Amino acid sequence: MFIGGGWRAALGGGTIAVVDPAREQVIGTVPAGSAEDVDAAVRAARDALPGWAVTPPAARAERLAALRDQLAARAEEIAATITAELGAPLAFSRAVHAAVPVAVCGSYAELAAEYAFEERVGNSTVLHEPVGVVGAITPWNYPLHQIVAKVAPALAAGCTVVLKPAEDTPLVAQLFAECVAAAGIPAGVFNLVTGLGPVAGRALAVHDGVDLVSFTGSTAVGRTIGALAGGAVKRVALELGGKSANVILPGADLGKAVAVGVANVMANSGQTCSAWTRMLVHRDQYEEAVELAAAATAKYVPGERLGPLVSARQRERVIGYIERGIAEGARLVAGGPDLPAGPGFHVRPTVFADVTPKMAIAQEEIFGPVLAMLRYEDEDDAVRIANGTPYGLAGAVWAADDATAAAFARRLDTGQVDINGGRFNPLAPFGGWKQSGVGRELGAHGLAEYLQTKSLQF
Ligand code: NAD
Repeated sequence: MFIGGGWRAALGGGTIAVVDPAREQVIGTVPAGSAEDVDAAVRAARDALPGWAVTPPAARAERLAALRDQLAARAEEIAATITAELGAPLAFSRAVHAAVPVAVCGSYAELAAEYAFEERVGNSTVLHEPVGVVGAITPWNYPLHQIVAKVAPALAAGCTVVLKPAEDTPLVAQLFAECVAAAGIPAGVFNLVTGLGPVAGRALAVHDGVDLVSFTGSTAVGRTIGALAGGAVKRVALELGGKSANVILPGADLGKAVAVGVANVMANSGQTCSAWTRMLVHRDQYEEAVELAAAATAKYVPGERLGPLVSARQRERVIGYIERGIAEGARLVAGGPDLPAGPGFHVRPTVFADVTPKMAIAQEEIFGPVLAMLRYEDEDDAVRIANGTPYGLAGAVWAADDATAAAFARRLDTGQVDINGGRFNPLAPFGGWKQSGVGRELGAHGLAEYLQTKSLQF
């Protein structure tokens, strides 16, 4: 663990094994941090806070630029590490898992330099000051992206951080800590405690020395953390699950919309919170879309283009949902619950047709390569179905033109919508409506989460 600028084992001496999900072999161990380790890390972060908070934004920006350069220089090692502990195909690890954090860290190096940390409002000067010590708890699915999406804006704001990464993917978090040290970020500004969620994660969430808890993970754990933070009157940001809709309106390029939609669900083996796991198609084009989706899914061969799931536990969960979809009466048009041959926590890429809005596979986050295809009658029906889950994280709309798609997107209860295949924007606010979360990450909105105002009246 990386605490106060130095590396150390867990005080209790415990360790956690890290498993390669493609080979089902242990590839390393990391310390299993306890509440005492978390306490030491929070103290280090508190000690470093006064100095970092008054470091001029331009100097913080320089350190973030150095961190971005470290992440870029070690991109190949980062990609290989994420492939080893998450199981993502190497090409995907390079293009997404290693590359996106470089862009996001770079964006915060620029924002730290440009952001208006002071503004005039009438006879007041409003100061935007760091919230304080941040407790960051991250999941395994985009392990480095989620670390950088919290740590970079927190550091840009002048906060100090204690990170508790997911127990399945702690090795890239250690690599990140090495990059932080090499970037010349002062000791204690960033601290890493590896450990189990209910032990180290919980200790961090309840610690009195933490001013803001930023959590990404399941809605179940997020709810607990939100309640704990509320009880302690502590700031909290929650990035939770999703069940996003991909709405294909009549007049859209059906072939492209279905192909991009299937690729979106299969990427990272379906372990993407913002994945478009429900495809909504007009009844007149429905059967054609089902055929196109089944054909597109055949390209995702387990062990080649499709990686394994992160763990045996995750595979069980996904297989359980596939069995549930069959039991609920949905029509299986690709994949199914049988396991592919060979080692690795693989599942078959699966497409269900004739899914109706109330089915569990249309309501609950599966977090695997499983697509649910729903039929709609008209635009109002499509809006009702798209908005008819407890989630609201992302989504897509395809139409004959951008204006038609954007008009439909305005009716969706969700944090992001991609219009006719619009590409990922690392500066656009990302985060959920409804039970998908509280707060925003990325860009200037993500930076604002780590600031609090002080108004001086003249
Ligand atoms: P999880 O909630 O089990 O774990 C997330 C993190 O919380 C891990 O670091 C874990 O150790 C920790 N944790 C677990 N129990 C805890 C507790 N009692 N107290 C404090 N910390 C605890 O989720 P997961 O299985 O790792 O990730 C999958 C889920 O995350 C999915 O539901 C997915 O949608 C969601 N997710 C959301 C986003 C987003 O940005 N909205 C991004 C990625 C993942």
